[in-house]
Amino acid sequence: MDLSKKKLWIFDVDNTLILDVEHPTPFKDALRLWKVLEQKDVTLAILTNVGRLSSRQVHQAVELGGFHLPVENVFTAGAAAAAYIHNRVPGARCFVIGEGGAQEDFVARGLDVTNNPPIDYVAVAADRGMTFSELNFATKMVKQGAGLICISGSLDYPGVYLGQEDVYIGERSIVAAIEHATGIESVVVGKPLPEIVVETVKVLGFEISESVIVGDNPQSDVAGGNAAGLMTILVKRNPNDIVNFESGTLDTNPTMSVESLDDVIRFV
Ligand SMILES: [Mg+2]
Repeated sequence: MDLSKKKLWIFDVDNTLILDVEHPTPFKDALRLWKVLEQKDVTLAILTNVGRLSSRQVHQAVELGGFHLPVENVFTAGAAAAAYIHNRVPGARCFVIGEGGAQEDFVARGLDVTNNPPIDYVAVAADRGMTFSELNFATKMVKQGAGLICISGSLDYPGVYLGQEDVYIGERSIVAAIEHATGIESVVVGKPLPEIVVETVKVLGFEISESVIVGDNPQSDVAGGNAAGLMTILVKRNPNDIVNFESGTLDTNPTMSVESLDDVIRFV
């Protein structure tokens, strides 16, 4: 397999480069591949489904892990959702459920993050401090015509919140409550949605054919990468740490599957 022609390498973060954004311990094989790629004439980027942190915060986490890249090369589901809304309603009034990360990406895009009607879009990221009144207000706004965006699509995920190590209900499950109450379906913005993979490649100025995506998750990284037409590399990690996503009928078979990212080095 010849990967030497690939000019853009897009990496997943959680369980691929580092354990997760709350435990930024790097995987040694990922660090070795990253260092080899840094010596080549390629661009390194990140595309993560994390929506509870902003692009800036994700950048801090991977830098802590030893993965250096410009903050402009970090793409999150929150930033992708902001771009999605901005492209439809510039300056839209948005009610955002989230832990602050998505809000930061929304404000950076020029969107109006507010808790007061009228609301154009309700956007939901993982939020472990969400209250009943927030959920109820979000539901009311959707009933009154606001668009409903799910930032990423995890059903649940492991993490740390207020010092508590646990598994937490994800944004897809929170949004399901709003969908159930309103009869309105959400737009899920995050991997495996192929548009966000295509957008990442386009914004960085590359062609699909010269790009490759690397991740641990067949349902998000591989399914999204395949649907966008990229070469996909799956690295096998601890199955217990693979977050659950809905990939529907998308193809979850990677172009290349490896036990360790060390196995990729001889092809680059
Ligand atoms: Mg992952």
